[in-house]
Amino acid sequence: MRSDEDCRKKLTREQYRVAREGGTERAFTGAYWNHHERGTYRCVCCGEPLFRSGEKYDSGSGWPSFTSPASRGAVAERRDASLGMVRTEVVCSRCDAHLGHVFEDGPEPTGLRYCINSASLDFESDEGGA
Ligand code: FE
Repeated sequence: MRSDEDCRKKLTREQYRVAREGGTERAFTGAYWNHHERGTYRCVCCGEPLFRSGEKYDSGSGWPSFTSPASRGAVAERRDASLGMVRTEVVCSRCDAHLGHVFEDGPEPTGLRYCINSASLDFESDEGGA
């Protein structure tokens, strides 16, 4: 697990603000909301595989949206009562980085919408050299 200090050096200011301070990027501004390559989205802090392109869908929200995480246990959930709403925050289960929130208005097969900040993710393409 990376320390907060390691993270601060490695991340951009925006990545740090979102992933370590629980911020939210503005809709339609992140790197991945309209990104359709096949591959894996890893935690920007610790590299843990968090989401995959196969579960990504266009929610229209302006944030990368997924119906499920890359594996059970990749992300952890926490109650978030900030901003006068009760939401479920999603964090990296390995390093606790803030990722976004999960809502129960997603499509099949899970009915869930993992609404995630691009700033908390690093994309790794599946494309090989062929
Ligand atoms: Fe992490």
